[in-house]
Amino acid sequence: MASASRDDELVLLPLGGAGEIGMNFNAYGFGPPDERKWIVVDCGVLFGKEAMTPGVDVIMPDIGFLAERREDVLGIVATHAHEDHIGAIHYLWPMLRCPVYATPFTARLIAGKLEEAGLQERVRVNVVPLHGKLTLGPFDIEFISITHSIPEPNALAIRTPLGVVVHTGDWKLDPDPLVGERTDSNALQKLGDEGVLATVCDSTNALVAGESGSEATVRKALIDLIGTLKGRVAVTAFASNVARLDSIAKAARIHGREIALVGRAMHKITAAARDSGYLADFPNVLDEEEAAELPPHRVLYLCTGSQGEMRAALSRIAAGQHPNVKLGPGDSVIFSSRIIPGNDLQIHELHNKLAGLGVEVISADDHFVHVSGHPARDELAQMYRWTRPRIAVPVHGELRHMSAHARLARSLQVPEAVVIENGHMLRLAPGKAQIIDETPSGRVHLDGQVLVSEGAGLSRTRRSLAYAGMIAVTLVLDDKARLAGDPAFFFEGIPEPVHGAVREAVSETIRRYNAKRGDDEKLRENVRRAARAAADDAWGKKPITRVEVVWV
Ligand SMILES: [Zn+2]
Ligand SMILES: [Zn+2]
Repeated sequence: MASASRDDELVLLPLGGAGEIGMNFNAYGFGPPDERKWIVVDCGVLFGKEAMTPGVDVIMPDIGFLAERREDVLGIVATHAHEDHIGAIHYLWPMLRCPVYATPFTARLIAGKLEEAGLQERVRVNVVPLHGKLTLGPFDIEFISITHSIPEPNALAIRTPLGVVVHTGDWKLDPDPLVGERTDSNALQKLGDEGVLATVCDSTNALVAGESGSEATVRKALIDLIGTLKGRVAVTAFASNVARLDSIAKAARIHGREIALVGRAMHKITAAARDSGYLADFPNVLDEEEAAELPPHRVLYLCTGSQGEMRAALSRIAAGQHPNVKLGPGDSVIFSSRIIPGNDLQIHELHNKLAGLGVEVISADDHFVHVSGHPARDELAQMYRWTRPRIAVPVHGELRHMSAHARLARSLQVPEAVVIENGHMLRLAPGKAQIIDETPSGRVHLDGQVLVSEGAGLSRTRRSLAYAGMIAVTLVLDDKARLAGDPAFFFEGIPEPVHGAVREAVSETIRRYNAKRGDDEKLRENVRRAARAAADDAWGKKPITRVEVVWV
């Protein structure tokens, strides 16, 4: 490896994930300030919340800062295949146009996304073997196997002439992950011996005491639980949790149930897992029609939709709208997953619908059917004991998680722990860790099929529309600026009794206001204010109001 020259700096620039659990996007830069070379670690999405971003399903980071320097972006390295780490690659790649690197299972899922986006011919997805190494300019990158809730999670050791960064990616310590390798604690410990400059680490569960627990214990619990159930059983879990799917399949087989996969993601992931050498003894699955023919106690449905997603299989089943899967009294649904914060309402709605069908709902609230894929505090402490960094940089969390994580790191004698937010450029070396720049950052919404900057304010407008509807007024004036006819009103989402008050206020304003031709702007504003004030008086809300003036 080349040695560092005097002006070289090593910086970390998160454009996503530092401030939210989702849309992870971390750029590492090396070199003198005006000649930095960059690598990107992960490029993920965040899922929109109907209440906050109505009509927006997918949110991703604004990477304009790096796009302007794309000649110096050497590659995108993916740690693992969760959507919050790879889900934005096919949307944002055209802004960077650099090669992509990932281990086989992750690469296969990225390739699938690129194909759907019609980019498969243009993007080079380089498959890195497990434990593989890779050099991109000044960065020597080593993949280190770790455990999480998906096959092939990797931490990265990123060696530079100014020191080694351990970028953990998402992880937990699972002594028995069931699918894939155990955490390569030797490699992490060796890095600690070598001397680690910074550990950049998952904060998701930094507020959770103890340990996350093992997939193997969930397998045992699921086997016991499913043995007690009599009617049809449907289990919903994240499709990407291949070990969990395997456990559910094993439980089904032990209790003489055949399996049917319901939902596109279940088919996609099990196929990708088999192609990558996992799920070797996963049983043959029935199709939905065949499963419907079986007696209830012989069938188990493995369904998408654990978060209550409207269009996913389980919501359609609960609404009685699924063509092949029907559930009713005597049947059970197991939610083998956690509630992602913010999804509580829609998940409980789904529980209610299922309860309404007479179905028994079993979840992590009352049974041991899930463990988290992220490190609780004891596991974080272990990571710091292994890697012994000079600097701890919490990422992958909201501010409250990252702050708790930083406090924990300091309590473990890590000399520096720095909480940074999206767009903060943190210099890791040389010298003390320091925020040296704030670059533009923000979010981009996939709105229908169009990428729109959050800054455009569409979500705010839609929330206002949802809260208080809208009024449109058209005024037709003659050349003496008198009303040439009654103003035309258009009310959308506004209660009838408010209409009269608004009409009156508008007429009154025009009577009082001495308009002149060319004065449209002022007239429009006067009428707009009068209409909103009248609505506020009569209703207590101020709708979005538009006024048009037409001269005849
Ligand atoms: Zn993640
Ligand atoms: Zn993950």
